[in-house]
Amino acid sequence: MSNYIEGYICRCCGKYHDELPMSYGGDVPDYYYSVPQEEQENRIEINDDLCVIDGEHFFIRGCIEIPVLDGEGPFIWDVWVSLSETNFEKTIEYWETEGRENELEPLFGWLSTSIPCYPKTINLKTMVHTRPVGVSPYIELEPTEHPLSVEQRKGITMERIKLIAEELCDEEEQ
Ligand SMILES: [Zn+2]
Repeated sequence: MSNYIEGYICRCCGKYHDELPMSYGGDVPDYYYSVPQEEQENRIEINDDLCVIDGEHFFIRGCIEIPVLDGEGPFIWDVWVSLSETNFEKTIEYWETEGRENELEPLFGWLSTSIPCYPKTINLKTMVHTRPVGVSPYIELEPTEHPLSVEQRKGITMERIKLIAEELCDEEEQ
């Protein structure tokens, strides 16, 4: 999952990585993990884009896109946000509708993914912007002083993206 290739020496593991990831994401909303594994099949409905837990918690997957100031962007955090039941139903209703991006107003959602490399991100306020059929929604953070929100407004540098890659590097140190 990368649209930018540039090698770098990792300050975390000391190895050379030939690809700098430009997106990271979680396959499920964090709340998923609070359901015991043996109950997940009965209590959770999920696909790549949507998730319902216990028939009363509704989530959609979208992209927090961050402009890159000195490279080809955007940098993307692939995240889940919760929606109200009404807005979730509206989203489903328009799922396959051509021009849905013009029909649906931005929808309020609580960020439901813990994003590493930042102070707590769970329950940050967002707006979900519907995009054309087949494209995940754009997630806009409430304009606050939270570093993630600041980065979405102001953009980040390739150096910051390298620091993120090093922090998230899961290779063993040499
Ligand atoms: Zn590394």
